[in-house]
Amino acid sequence: MPNFDEHRIAPGQKVDLRKLESDGKDLVSNPSQLENEFHERRTEIVELGEKLFAEGRQKLLIVFQAMDGGGKDGTIRSVFEGANPQWVEVTSFRKPSAEELSRDYLWRIHKAVPPSGKIGVFNRSHYEDVLVVRVHKLVPEGVWKPRYKQINAFEEVLTASGTTILKFFLHISKNEQKQRFEERIQIPEKRWKFDPADLEKRKYWDDYRAAFEDMMEKCSTENSPWYVVPADQNWYRDLVVASVIADTLKKMAPKYPDPPDVSGIVIE
Ligand code: AMP
Ligand code: MG
Repeated sequence: MPNFDEHRIAPGQKVDLRKLESDGKDLVSNPSQLENEFHERRTEIVELGEKLFAEGRQKLLIVFQAMDGGGKDGTIRSVFEGANPQWVEVTSFRKPSAEELSRDYLWRIHKAVPPSGKIGVFNRSHYEDVLVVRVHKLVPEGVWKPRYKQINAFEEVLTASGTTILKFFLHISKNEQKQRFEERIQIPEKRWKFDPADLEKRKYWDDYRAAFEDMMEKCSTENSPWYVVPADQNWYRDLVVASVIADTLKKMAPKYPDPPDVSGIVIE
């Protein structure tokens, strides 16, 4: 069973995405065997998620960030296939509404964190407030720079209240992004995903890269680690994400609650 700890960013570790693999196919010797492995890990997630829900004490927050076209939607779809909608809650964060903008940037995030017994999945997150907001200068530097510390403090609050946190950066190459955007234009079923704004953002690739690197250097902590997932190949990406989640759930070791004493009960 491959060990994917190599993709985890240690606290304070310098991150240079140009040196980190975006294509997982060279990292494993036997891709065909790994399809089975992925299905096993996904089954574990479903079984452990059910126990987490029954136990009703712990919670898991999973954050996805990526360049546009990085595969956040696809990863969530394949990794959580078969999961019970009663205990997995996905929240997608788009451009903040006027109502959201009139509050602090963590307001909408905090409202969406998972309650006891559930797995919360963030498709984008509070990290947009040090990514798109930084790159496109939506607020001054004096406002976004202190956010790394604020985010670490916010995540500490979640950890202290029993939330386990995992954060995945889906790492694609610039060429892979080009191909995916082209598919969105050419394949009718994918066209709804094409957003001309993404082409504009692509021009800022290097600025985004620097923002992602800073985000991971400053906000990968012992209790709330970032993983850089090679994501050019969907199967490798899905396997890494499913494995890390399954291993984390195993460590959380949820248990069915003790059953009530049923001795002597007769149902008329
Ligand atoms: P999508 O995920 O394709 O639906 O796109 C959502 C868009 O919302 C992306 O372009 C994000 O960069 C943008 N977005 C998400 N959060 C924020 C934020 N806090 N401030 C500005 N734009 C955001
Ligand atoms: Mg989009």
